[in-house]
Amino acid sequence: MLFKKVTTAEQKTIALVAHDNMKPALLDWVSAHAEKLRPHKLYATGTTGSVLEAKAGLEISKLISGPLGGDQQIGALITEQVIDVMIFFWDPLEAQPHDPDVKALLRLAAVWNIPVACNVATADLLITSSLFEKPFDKDVPDYERYLSERTQ
Ligand code: PGA
Repeated sequence: MLFKKVTTAEQKTIALVAHDNMKPALLDWVSAHAEKLRPHKLYATGTTGSVLEAKAGLEISKLISGPLGGDQQIGALITEQVIDVMIFFWDPLEAQPHDPDVKALLRLAAVWNIPVACNVATADLLITSSLFEKPFDKDVPDYERYLSERTQ
């Protein structure tokens, strides 16, 4: 795969997702960092977003609930290069009905070089990074070159 450099905006677009057993941990984390998160654009799967909006007082664009397709909607936003950062507290101790979607979402995040936090320690490191507030450069797949090479 060929890559190209892109620069993220100062204002990040952040996807927030938590499985049911992990929602309290994500709510605590979001509440603790609400003022740092407020200037950014926030997306979440349906139930996660409703809980965070009601209890942490942040404005969140809510997709459909994860098991009904919300993880795939976030994956689609990643491929459209809308999402810059993902905080995804998936449950390591319980199988989900939509495990294939969870795997697909994590795969797309890896393909598109998205910073992903799957636990509180990583989320803390991400949000305290000086780059969280600044534009930063990263490599992403160069789709135009990918396509032109495959269609020659
Ligand atoms: P939910 O989905 O926010 O609708 O609970 C999360 C998920 O399981 O992907």
